[in-house]
Amino acid sequence: MRIVIIGAGVVGVAAAWALRHTGADIIVAEAREGPALETSFANGGHLAMASGPWAAPDVPGKLLRWLGREDAPLLVRLRWDPALWRWGLKFLANCTASAYEENARAIGSLAQLSCTETVRLREELSISDDASGEGVLTLYHNPWDLAAAEKKRDRLIAHGIAAEVLDPAALVAREPALASAVHRYAGALFAADGHTADCRAFTLGLAAAAAQRGVLFRYRTRVAKLLVERGRTLGVVLEGGERVAADAVVLAAGPWSVRLVAALGLRLPIYPGKGYSVTVPIAGRNGAPRHGVIDEAQKIYIARFGQRLRIAGTLELAGFDPTPSPRRASATLERLRALFPDGGDFARAEHWTGLRPMTPDGRPLIGATPIRGLWLDTGHGPLGWTLACGSALLLASLITNSSPPIDPTPFSPSRF
Ligand SMILES: Cc1cc2nc3c(=O)[nH]c(=O)nc-3n(C[C@H](O)[C@H](O)[C@H](O)COP(=O)(O)OP(=O)(O)OC[C@H]3O[C@@H](n4cnc5c(N)ncnc54)[C@H](O)[C@@H]3O)c2cc1C
Repeated sequence: MRIVIIGAGVVGVAAAWALRHTGADIIVAEAREGPALETSFANGGHLAMASGPWAAPDVPGKLLRWLGREDAPLLVRLRWDPALWRWGLKFLANCTASAYEENARAIGSLAQLSCTETVRLREELSISDDASGEGVLTLYHNPWDLAAAEKKRDRLIAHGIAAEVLDPAALVAREPALASAVHRYAGALFAADGHTADCRAFTLGLAAAAAQRGVLFRYRTRVAKLLVERGRTLGVVLEGGERVAADAVVLAAGPWSVRLVAALGLRLPIYPGKGYSVTVPIAGRNGAPRHGVIDEAQKIYIARFGQRLRIAGTLELAGFDPTPSPRRASATLERLRALFPDGGDFARAEHWTGLRPMTPDGRPLIGATPIRGLWLDTGHGPLGWTLACGSALLLASLITNSSPPIDPTPFSPSRF
C-alpha cells in the first residue's frame, strides 16, 4: 500500500511514523523546505493533558467584553467572511456547559494516549527536544476560578495524575520565579505530570528517524490538487504537474487542508486561528521559571526550553493572513516580562505567529471522508503538539482497519 501524506508539521510527521509501522510505503509532500516550519515551528510547547477546548461557557461573555480591544486574549476581526461566520456560529453552539464537558472528555482521552506515545518515542529514539518534566502550574486570577480548579484537580487525580491546588504562598514556594507577580493571582493548580518540550525539535527528530526507516520526505513540494475519479482517491498532482499515484492520501496540511478539499466540494469546519509567541534567551538571568506556566484567562502558555524562555498563545480570527499586529506582539512580550521580570534578555526577543487549524468543538478531524481513500488528520487547533502522536495511532488503526486504541467516534469528520 502506498500512502501520500500532505504536510510535514508535527501531525503529518507523526502520522508518517505510525503508518510506516503498518508496512505501508509513505511519501510526505511538504510545501516548505523542511519539517515544522509553519504552525509547529514555535508554539507554546505544552503537552497539555489537562486542557479543555477553547469553546467554553464563559467565552461568549468574554468575547463581548473584549470586543475592539487590540490586545484582547481572543480577538475577532469582524468582516465579511462567510467561512468565519459559519465557523463562529458553530463555535458559539459549543460554548454550553454540556458541550464543553463532552468535548473536554474526548480531548482528554486522546491527550492521554498521545502524551504517553510522545514520551515513549522521545525515549526510544533519543530525541532531544528540551523536554522538562517539572510539572505545570495553571494560574487563576480570582478565588472562584481557583475554587472551580478543585474540580479539575479531582478529574486529574481520577485519571491517576498527581495534582494539587496551591494558595499564593504555596505557589511561590513551588515556583520562586513568580514571587514578584504572585499578588495578581488567587492561586494555581499544579499538575505533576504536565510537561513541556520543543515541538519543532521533536518533529525534526521524528522526521529524521522516519526517513531512516524508509519514509520518503519530499520538501519544496506543494500539492496542487487531489486526484479523484469516481469517488476514489488515486493520488495527488503536484505544483508543476507531476502526478503521484497512491492508494490512500492523508490530509495533514493544517489550516490549509480546507483549500485542498474545497475543489472537491468538501467543506471542512476549520478556521485559521492566529497565535503569537515570543522567545527570549535566558542569558544567565536568575528569574526564569522551572515549571511550565499557563494563564488560562489570558490564554497564554509559558515554557522553558533549556536556555530559552517562551510565551505563546492568544487567538486572533483574521483569516489566513499571518502578519503580526505590532500591538498584540508587544503585549505578548510585556506579559512575559510582567510575570518574570528577570526571566531573560528581552532585548533579544524573537517574535513569531502561527495559524492554528481550529475546529469549532476543539476536537481534531481524524478519519475517513466521503471520498474513498482520502483520510483526514487535521484540525488540532491549540493542541496539535499535545495530540499529534495519539492522533497518528488512531489514524493508523482506522486505515488498517485494526482495533483502535481509543474510541474514534468523537473525532470522526462526519460529526459536522
Ligand atoms: C501561538 C501558538 C501556540 C501553541 N501552543 C501549543 C501548545 O502549547 N501545545 C499544543 O499542543 N499545541 C499548541 N499549539 C498548536 C499547535 O502548534 C498546532 O496544533 C500544530 O502545530 C498543528 O500541526 P499541523 O501539523 O497540523 O500543522 P502545521 O505545522 O502547520 O503543518 C502543516 C504543513 O502542511 C504544509 N502544507 C500546507 N498546504 C500544503 C500543500 N498544498 N502541499 C504540501 N504541503 C502543504 C505546510 O507547509 C505545513 O508545513 C500552538 C499554536 C500556536 C499558533
